[in-house]
Amino acid sequence: MKTAMPCVLTVNGGSSSIRFAVYEAGDTPRRRLDGKIDRIGLSGTNLTVTDPAGKLPGSRRLALADHGTAADFLLDWLETQPVFASVKAVGHRVVHGMKHSEPERVTPKLLAELHRITVYAPEHLPREIGLIEAFRRRHPKLPQVACFDTAFHRNMPRVAKLLPIPRRYAARGVERYGFHGLSYAYLMEELGRLDPAAAEGRVILAHLGNGASLAAVRHGKSVDTSMGFTPAAGLVMGTRTGDLDPGLVYYLARTERMTVAQFQKMVNHESGLLGVSGTSSDLRDLCAREASDVRAAQAVELFCYQVRKWIGSFAAALGGLETLVFAAGIGENAPLIRERICDGLGFLGIELNRKRNARNAPLISARAGRVRVRVIRTDEELMIARSVTRVLNLGSMRET
Ligand code: ADP
Repeated sequence: MKTAMPCVLTVNGGSSSIRFAVYEAGDTPRRRLDGKIDRIGLSGTNLTVTDPAGKLPGSRRLALADHGTAADFLLDWLETQPVFASVKAVGHRVVHGMKHSEPERVTPKLLAELHRITVYAPEHLPREIGLIEAFRRRHPKLPQVACFDTAFHRNMPRVAKLLPIPRRYAARGVERYGFHGLSYAYLMEELGRLDPAAAEGRVILAHLGNGASLAAVRHGKSVDTSMGFTPAAGLVMGTRTGDLDPGLVYYLARTERMTVAQFQKMVNHESGLLGVSGTSSDLRDLCAREASDVRAAQAVELFCYQVRKWIGSFAAALGGLETLVFAAGIGENAPLIRERICDGLGFLGIELNRKRNARNAPLISARAGRVRVRVIRTDEELMIARSVTRVLNLGSMRET
């Protein structure tokens, strides 16, 4: 009798996109298809799907979808796909779980808890809860698993978690959490596969996408990370400020009567590369205009300068450095940016091989450099699929 592997659907809801993928469950989940809905909240919301061979089995366009209608749009499409009958579970990337860090099956109790803690991640959690609830409404029997993006950093040393504000706030969970944990966990697994000794050593991981952060890792464990209480902290990003002088809050409230909501919007959506360039949050756009647009050039320079500073500071936190890993949209695809970040870091033993760097090769450091510099394609979806398979024990399941 023909057997069909149970499949896992992974869902990764971002600010203007939902990425999804279907994997055959197993020790090494195999991707059947992946896709994304982008331009959510903008005209021309788009769903595109690719299979592992890079073919395009589907695409659809909606006039305009918000986050609620985008979830229904995705479900409408998925339900017409033959593979959907094999989907036995859904795994979600969930930005924050406070005390919850291990991947966990979604129950009414967990959902209530996520609602309760939305104030800790107001930019992300409401949308992610919305996606879980949309699946629950249409497919109440389909198990769902929440995979928390904070998990990788949960055992950071106390000193890296503390915020220097009055003690009473720490008791309420106001501390540094760190994010991009699914990506970091994947990168460390990959590094362990490529070079087991390096994964046990002193490593800096640089996840540089629209959202960007770095993590300092020793003996496979997060020692520090640039994002903090929220994902708005740390490095300058596409539209987020990263770390900011706290004195600005008072200044803007007094001079512009800026409200808390306006401040939240500015630091998350109007700042970063977009704010400095005045034109785009997209690094590729800015690089293309650098020669003719001084503000674009300044935004790119600020990004490279800040990444370099974080690398220096994490090398100090680690007491040295053996491996530097670049990942995500910018980290994986932008040789010139990697070169500019690493320029001047020779004193740390970071030297790039120009040719390999230009090719986005897996190992881009020069032979003479003490630090091995790598490019690893991150895969948060695969990490989610592995977690769901493990939590629900799907790897041992067969459908006849
Ligand atoms: P996120 O998942 O956080 O939305 P991505 O990891 O997709 O973001 O990264 C998006 C960023 O990567 C954008 O700033 C984009 O310009 C940048 N990027 C992608 N490809 C290139 C490239 N070839 N050169 C420079 N930047 C690139």
